[in-house]
Amino acid sequence: MTTLENIVQYAKAQGFVFQGSELYGGLANTWDYGPLGALLKQNIKKAWIDRFQRQSPYNVLLDSSILLNTEVWKASGHLGGFSDPLTECRSCNMRFRADKLIEEHDKTTSPDGWSNEKMYQYLIDHEVACPNCGKKDFLPIRSFNMMFQTHQGVVLDTASKIYLRPETAQGIFIQFKNIQRTTRRKVPFGVCQVGKSFRNEITPGNFIFRTREFEQMELEFFCKPGTEIEWFKYWKQACMQFLLDLGVNKQDLKFDDHKPEALSHYSNATTDIQYNFPWGFDELWGIASRTDFDLNAHQTHSGENLTYLDPDTNERYLPYVVEPSVGVERLFLMFLSNGLTEETLENGDIRQILKIHPALAPYKAAILPLFRKEHKDLAEKIYADLSKHFDVVYDETQNIGKRYRRQDAIGTYLCITVDHDSEATQTVTVRNRDTMEQERIAITDLRAYIEKTIEF
Ligand code: ATP
Repeated sequence: MTTLENIVQYAKAQGFVFQGSELYGGLANTWDYGPLGALLKQNIKKAWIDRFQRQSPYNVLLDSSILLNTEVWKASGHLGGFSDPLTECRSCNMRFRADKLIEEHDKTTSPDGWSNEKMYQYLIDHEVACPNCGKKDFLPIRSFNMMFQTHQGVVLDTASKIYLRPETAQGIFIQFKNIQRTTRRKVPFGVCQVGKSFRNEITPGNFIFRTREFEQMELEFFCKPGTEIEWFKYWKQACMQFLLDLGVNKQDLKFDDHKPEALSHYSNATTDIQYNFPWGFDELWGIASRTDFDLNAHQTHSGENLTYLDPDTNERYLPYVVEPSVGVERLFLMFLSNGLTEETLENGDIRQILKIHPALAPYKAAILPLFRKEHKDLAEKIYADLSKHFDVVYDETQNIGKRYRRQDAIGTYLCITVDHDSEATQTVTVRNRDTMEQERIAITDLRAYIEKTIEF
């Protein structure tokens, strides 16, 4: 099992993830995605959109604003209720999320749905110790609103105060009518959105697992009341299948179905897909059946009728919603954790490999002239042709063995080598990252060959 420390070191060394604002001493818990990380992130988002929107007969896309009218957050409950239970150690003044302290104290206890008072009582009764100083003396729990505030315009008064969205979902709910009208979709249909969200988390950490700025990929799936559990099961399986198809080890994934008493008041079914991160199983993807809570809240608060008229049955109703919601960075961390591998070769050398699905690999192929002098021109031509279709990389430095290792380490799926026979035969060797096997392929077939590898 790869440790978190190894992943962090690897990510920095190879140019996947750098510390944010490093030049100025950093800014706590912010991360920048380097040349390879930016490609991996882009590929994760593309894979999600391909599977959940492009290949789905039901779903369409939306790209809504990060800044929304403050009424949205009043209606959704975020301004009142979107808060974490915050407690503070009286001795060292470190702040913690009470629910996380309880979960860490006893993994079988789930404080979801507990009141602040109940959580505080638990801390006292079970003599939960401060993870920092070990003292068992916490201050009563306060609710801490996690929304980032800013001001719009030049006047810093209360009227200009606005918030950065803490989730992308509300942007979808408030455009439900426009989307339905313009696409003429019939229920059931869904809306996919990828975008940044911001939460002033009390306890960010575990590298990119929990940060204050992150990207979400959310699907709000609208269905007829009474059919939501069926759809909930459908999307639950679809999310799991997506991960398996992208090569995540089955034994490192599991569903954590929430017990009825732990459900949010608006939900009649919720599950998390958990992944076995280096510190143990933890939430990757939340899937919730949210009833008509959101549309109802916006209908009431805005005074606009958000009901849907079924053209076939003439029934009018507020659709129910099933929401699978996942963080791009959590998937990113999972794919690094799942893929980082070391193999000992026959000669005793260590081969580092990022075993990641070719669809996600930053580079699909590396184009390598065996000898710079003789093979450069043809290799550059192949590079120019393939780069119109795929992310590929050209490398002519050092000996071929070293170049193979370098590509293995960053997950490049194929190494295409131009050698002495290439010009005359118009063929190249193609080496597979995982098996290290090589085959000779016609240059004109390369595009179709790569295309095949990235299907999932
Ligand atoms: P938690 O209980 O861990 O704070 P949550 O249950 O509030 O998370 P949701 O609101 O369900 O999380 O968010 C949906 C998904 O968005 C999560 O499963 C996760 O993948 C991602 N996500 C949420 N918060 C963060 C964060 N601070 N950093 C990175 N990803 C996040």
